[in-house]
Amino acid sequence: MWITNGMQADWCCLLANTSEGPVHSNKSLIMVPLDAPGVTRQKIEKIGMHSSDTAQLFFDDVRVPQRNLIGQEGAGFMFQMLQFQEERLYGAASSLQSLDNLIDQTIEYTRQRHTFGQPLLNNQVVHFRLAELRTEVEALRALTYRAVESYVAGKDVTKLASMAKLKAGRLSREVADACLQYWGGMGFTADNPISQAYRDSRLISIGGGADEIMLGIICKLEGTLPGKKR
Ligand SMILES: Cc1cc2nc3c(=O)[nH]c(=O)nc-3n(C[C@H](O)[C@H](O)[C@H](O)COP(=O)(O)OP(=O)(O)OC[C@H]3O[C@@H](n4cnc5c(N)ncnc54)[C@H](O)[C@@H]3O)c2cc1C
Repeated sequence: MWITNGMQADWCCLLANTSEGPVHSNKSLIMVPLDAPGVTRQKIEKIGMHSSDTAQLFFDDVRVPQRNLIGQEGAGFMFQMLQFQEERLYGAASSLQSLDNLIDQTIEYTRQRHTFGQPLLNNQVVHFRLAELRTEVEALRALTYRAVESYVAGKDVTKLASMAKLKAGRLSREVADACLQYWGGMGFTADNPISQAYRDSRLISIGGGADEIMLGIICKLEGTLPGKKR
């Protein structure tokens, strides 16, 4: 379920259980051509991200050659965990310019929109809030750059990548919500960049591991996660 671009993809990288046994070592990554007999797809209707389809894929006795196995059998979970670090860094990095754009567009809109004889932007609550949000974006940029620098240097960035992904999700919601407010009724209409960001950016706190999963990883690495009860 939830496969990004699954309706149009030619191939998928499938994480499948290939044996019995412990959940961390019974999975393998397999390349599956999506025109193989037995594969069907169904589109999922979403509240946002309309330029990228999301699909539910069904596999009914699908067979692929053994050479489609990626790496070693049973190593799929480990590969997937490694891939997540890149996906989470990408999630944080790709949000930066969008956040700056939203703030820029809101400055522009509130500068030309006049209420009570002056530009909306002249209200201190508006320009102060936008300055505060810009500061938060710069802080996210610094965290993301630090995480990417460590990653490029070959270090384990699990904690920094989780922090960056968490912060990107939360800040994207905050910026989209605050900016939409200053667009007033226009912000609540469907066809403008602010309302699109409000819908689309909601995904960042869910996809690629929800905020709470990021918090769990950070706590585990902080040594504050209680052990499992036996
Ligand atoms: C548009 C879209 C595209 C996606 N694309 C892909 C894709 O291409 N490939 C792919 O593999 N997946 C994809 N996903 C799946 C995505 O990664 C999951 O939806 C996400 O990880 C959350 O899992 P879930 O939906 O099963 O939520 P659940 O596990 O049902 O969790 C629901 C909510 O409960 C809370 N929660 C969960 N666990 C905990 C916890 N331990 N402690 C406290 N709270 C918790 C969180 O708030 C979470 O949002 C996509 C999802 C969407 C919506």
